Amino acid sequence: MNKRCMICGEEFDARRHDAKVCGDTCRTIKKKQDRKKHHESPIGREKYRLMLERRRVLPRSVRCVICGKSFLANHAMVKCCSDSCRSEKDKRYYHSDERKAWRKQYLQRHDVRLMNNERRRKRRHIPEVRERELEYKRQRRSDPKLAQLDRERTAELARNRKASAQFFRAQAMVGAVTEATKEPTPC
Ligand SMILES: [Zn+2]
Ligand SMILES: [Zn+2]
Repeated sequence: MNKRCMICGEEFDARRHDAKVCGDTCRTIKKKQDRKKHHESPIGREKYRLMLERRRVLPRSVRCVICGKSFLANHAMVKCCSDSCRSEKDKRYYHSDERKAWRKQYLQRHDVRLMNNERRRKRRHIPEVRERELEYKRQRRSDPKLAQLDRERTAELARNRKASAQFFRAQAMVGAVTEATKEPTPC
């Protein structure tokens, strides 16, 4: 059954009669849109208000972790007295060893470059994002100075890619040679 995806507008072969999107990427985008619609609807806003109400606690005195001033707070997780203290707290955390350790672990666990590429690939699926990217490219190309810079950058990237490919090929060859010349292990 041929249907048209309500997100990207492409035709796709639907297996269910009530299918609305073509695949996982568009499903994610649709979910996001639905959630946003719900939050902006009267029911969604009322639910948000009730959630805030539930989190509210009786006003109590809290000591600010940055400036040490006492102030009254009626929410549970409050730690700072003002926006400036809050941004100071964020700044301290950003430069703290705790965050650096977490970041190091994170980089070891994930290939960030691949993740970013994947994210960009998914976002490109959205018509507005694609249009914006194309517009940006057009602008850069129309400026001779920027266009020249971009050309140089592309050439540099290509050179780097070639060099690293050569390096890895050479490494593989060395490995193969040592593997072949190895003494056979006596059994
Ligand atoms: Zn789609
Ligand atoms: Zn403070």
